[in-house]
Amino acid sequence: MPLSRLRLSNFRNLVDVDLEVPAGVSVFYGGNAQGKTALVEAVYILAIARSFRAENERELVNFGAVGNGDVAIVEGLVDDEESVSPRRVIVGYRVSGSDSPGGRSYRISKEIRVDRVRRTAAGLVGLVHAVLFTALDIDLIQGSPSGRRRFLDILISQADPLYLKALQRYQQVLRQRNRLLRMRREGRASPEEMEYWDGELVKEGAWLTWRRHEVMEVLTPSCVRHHKDLSGDGEKLDLQYRPSVPLAECSDGTAVNYRELLELVSAREAATAATAAGPHRDDFDIIVNGLDMGAYASRGQARTLALALRLGEAETLSAVRGREPLLLLDDALSEMDAVRRERVLEKASHYPQVLITTTDPEQVAGFFGAGAFYFRVGGGQVLPLDGVP
Ligand code: ATP
Ligand code: MG
Repeated sequence: MPLSRLRLSNFRNLVDVDLEVPAGVSVFYGGNAQGKTALVEAVYILAIARSFRAENERELVNFGAVGNGDVAIVEGLVDDEESVSPRRVIVGYRVSGSDSPGGRSYRISKEIRVDRVRRTAAGLVGLVHAVLFTALDIDLIQGSPSGRRRFLDILISQADPLYLKALQRYQQVLRQRNRLLRMRREGRASPEEMEYWDGELVKEGAWLTWRRHEVMEVLTPSCVRHHKDLSGDGEKLDLQYRPSVPLAECSDGTAVNYRELLELVSAREAATAATAAGPHRDDFDIIVNGLDMGAYASRGQARTLALALRLGEAETLSAVRGREPLLLLDDALSEMDAVRRERVLEKASHYPQVLITTTDPEQVAGFFGAGAFYFRVGGGQVLPLDGVP
């Protein structure tokens, strides 16, 4: 199982939590604002090295701790196929504050360690595999392309250790290239200076495009199957990757296409001073019975599609890494009818470790009964229960 112990210190309202995390299904229940999402957020940080919801990482540090200069710590004992004993992952956040003339200003610094050795974010991602289902997943269907790109990026970063590094390099190159385009528009840079950055952009960008294409090939049939199981035979799903750069037969061929495309858009880029083509403009279409669900999904359809994407994500990670991910379901069952809820819980129960949060434990206890572990989340504490709530 992926995670055997979780320790939190000054993480949001969870000031001091120390939890043995069992294999199988664990249900965390409690009223609103008790720390259920905070708990799941912390576990997911062990997988993707950042919060899925904080705009600013300062939010993660308990208010009281900020004043005292204390650190927030997320610590997990996690399984690693390459090591006999579990690894100790620690992600720490320190806020340093000062009273400046314009008001209080704070700086946040983050430190990641695996078995005491410092790692970068890209050095951590891929160790713990996790898939997070949240009530916000509906945005995957109805929201902007950036959410769908993030979905692909998180999936592929966990599946392929090289991907996140390439993505970080691409984003760096993109920033430099856009800066240069602005300077050129002001007559402060020559076309020759662009050449180096064009080369870097094409190299990283074509590879990212190709990897996204390859993963979509695994992801799509899996999502289609889960969608059919959840919605019945009447609805036929298809996912279509819409890369900004036309795909060729391989990554190198895609690089040739990317070069040609940059030529084509060069006048537009000179006018807008922004890179017009590349994986930062990718999207994928979600189509049911020929209709684009971005525009036409009903709320219930969008919820079901979002679940199919997440179940597909979990299955793709299992297929690519040969090891099943940790599933995190944060309030993901609300707004779902009883039939769909049961189908999702049934699918989730095949994974070695599943953490579910809910305000209504009966929704879950009705399905799992004594087959799950239950924890009560309240007042910043997480307490195991002996039986079924
Ligand atoms: P819901 O059922 O409404 O989703 P929840 O149990 O998931 O609730 P969380 O989102 O985890 O609740 O938030 C728990 C509480 O932690 C909230 O009251 C929130 O205001 C508080 N909180 C958030 N950040 C901090 C922080 N840095 N320090 C202290 N408390 C915080
Ligand atoms: Mg919540």
